[in-house]
Amino acid sequence: MARPGNKIIQAKLVLLGDMGTGKTSLVLRFVKGQFFDHQEPTIGAAFFTQILSVTEATVKFDIWDTAGQERYHSLAPMYYRGAAAAVVVYDISSTDTFVRAKKWVQELQRQGNPNLVMALVANKSDLDSKREVENEDGEHFAQENGMFFIETSAKSAQNVNELFYEIAKRLARAC
Ligand code: GDP
Ligand code: MG
Repeated sequence: MARPGNKIIQAKLVLLGDMGTGKTSLVLRFVKGQFFDHQEPTIGAAFFTQILSVTEATVKFDIWDTAGQERYHSLAPMYYRGAAAAVVVYDISSTDTFVRAKKWVQELQRQGNPNLVMALVANKSDLDSKREVENEDGEHFAQENGMFFIETSAKSAQNVNELFYEIAKRLARAC
């Protein structure tokens, strides 16, 4: 619940990243506290809402998950329109998804919103034994592009709430 006198921010959040990196799983972990080993590729546009209170504000997230269109390596302009935050996800066990994450960041930058809060998410941290991407590389790329970096696991729940809290804090500061 919002505290008296606390500001309320409604924020559209979009998820980007290659198929299979765990976008839908991260959202389901955050919104419902659930995880599925055989997450079905999302069919139809998926839309979720979640409310988070941080010290500075209460943030109402409108979360837009892809409906599998990332297969075609681009998303419709309406997907990005009005977004206040973007989460770009790669899978630490796949270099390809990290290379592709950089392309997704370029696509985001083409949308031309300098105030966009952007997170680079290194997901599937539980697959450390199959790691192909070092966190240093993710951190470096994030820093170069004005994003914050976080390693998560939708499976173990590591850092999933922290990801959304950090976004909420940054949105609150920017408002
Ligand atoms: P999306 O295509 O980016 O939405 O990815 P999904 O959320 O559909 O996940 C693709 C596959 O990766 C599914 O089989 C998930 O169970 C699995 N997955 C997602 N997140 C994790 C994670 O953190 N760890 C592991 N081990 N598997 C994950
Ligand atoms: Mg999905």
